Amino acid sequence: MTTFADLGLSEDILKAIQDVGYTTPTPIQEQAIPYVLQGRDLLGCAQTGTGKTAGFVLPMLEVLGSGRARARMPRSLILEPTRELAAQVAENFENYGKYHKLSMALLVGGEMMGDQIRALDSGVDVLIATPGRMMDLFDRGKIMLADIKIFVIDEADRMLDMGFIPDVERIAGMLPPLKQTLFFSATMPPEIRKLADRFLSNPKTVTVSPPSSTATNVTQKLAVMGQNNDWLKRETLRHLLKRDAVKNAFIFCNRKRDVASLHKSLVKHGFNAGALHGDMEQSERTATLDKFRRNEIALLVCSDVAARGLDIDAVSHVFNFDVPFNAEDYVHRIGRTARAGLSGTAYTLVTPDDSKQVAAIEHLIKKTLDRESIEGLGEPREEERHHHRHRSNDKSRDRRHGRDRNSSPPPRSREPSPPISAPRAAPQEAAPRAQPRPRQATSGDAFDDTALPAFLRRPPAIVKAKE
Ligand code: AMP
Repeated sequence: MTTFADLGLSEDILKAIQDVGYTTPTPIQEQAIPYVLQGRDLLGCAQTGTGKTAGFVLPMLEVLGSGRARARMPRSLILEPTRELAAQVAENFENYGKYHKLSMALLVGGEMMGDQIRALDSGVDVLIATPGRMMDLFDRGKIMLADIKIFVIDEADRMLDMGFIPDVERIAGMLPPLKQTLFFSATMPPEIRKLADRFLSNPKTVTVSPPSSTATNVTQKLAVMGQNNDWLKRETLRHLLKRDAVKNAFIFCNRKRDVASLHKSLVKHGFNAGALHGDMEQSERTATLDKFRRNEIALLVCSDVAARGLDIDAVSHVFNFDVPFNAEDYVHRIGRTARAGLSGTAYTLVTPDDSKQVAAIEHLIKKTLDRESIEGLGEPREEERHHHRHRSNDKSRDRRHGRDRNSSPPPRSREPSPPISAPRAAPQEAAPRAQPRPRQATSGDAFDDTALPAFLRRPPAIVKAKE
């Protein structure tokens, strides 16, 4: 078995690795570290959770260990798509670099720019940045990039999704031609491959899992609803949370405004939930995440941007309240559970309108997902039904909310009592309690799904496999 020492890392780093408690390198580390130490460009196809961060941080510490940084002239640059990921990489440098004297600066939006400028002024070996803030400081003349020896582009596919590629290209254009570039992406669609070709020179490629594979220790299910209805989606989620006695979960929405409204609804129903999305202040995001880590918040309603790459162990469930627009996001979302060798469950709430997205996901992961039919959760009251119709016909949803609130007197009436027998969780409750399975809610074999669109019906092969 390969050890960290076999990879060519020095004593100081081996000691820090031992302190952290890792015994053996992960496959991406085993493959990538020797190439980085040789000074080769690298194309790494790996998701978060594979240990890829240490795969570049450890050899970078080694390479940068000799030499000193000059004021405003960082010696290495790591670009990350989100502030959380940037912070995680910084944490890695702190942990593994504790026996080194390398200095580091984190340039991310939402933090005090003055502190970041002061850090740069005193000279940094490692600069970790999100592209926007990086460009901001560069344009103000606060950074010179002529001394960059190692350039890392992490989560390139996410950079692409978030529209950061023009910034990344501009930054790359300002770097000296003689440098080492490490390029990581969880997926390798053609646009990403083209980018990699532009940035890398004669790279070594390392791939640790097929780009579209999902972890085998995640049980994946589609919770199938017969109609597209906001109330029914929320009720289905509540039903699953209670039925499975969910201890903690990420709940993904496709839009920021839906994160906010679902969060509000869950809290109103007595669930211990927090929210995380890209428009929140950084301090608020950090505080919410810390609470989730400490189990003070059980459910975290979030958008893809906020949750990308979050490394929190022991999260038992992921719920896709909305089917993600991009099939790749499905792989990322469900990768938030079943980390560190644990197992997990991922539910995706599916309505008849989601057929194309579900097909794209199943095509990508090369797997037919198990269908669980959710029915019998009752009907929204008349005003809710009216509310839903109203919402479906109008594009301007936010304005609509305001109007509805004015016209429907008690706010609670928008979410009627579910007719299931289980009592609603008390508002002060820390986490949803296990509830007896409601009689009306059928799932699995008893359900007659012939009224559903074909794609939502349980495929015979899956039913057979379960028997
Ligand atoms: P990453 O893919 O970089 O986000 O890392 C995922 C998780 O794996 C983090 O919690 C790391 O601390 C952990 N990790 C990284 N390398 C190792 C290793 N060699 N052995 C055990 N855990 C590791």
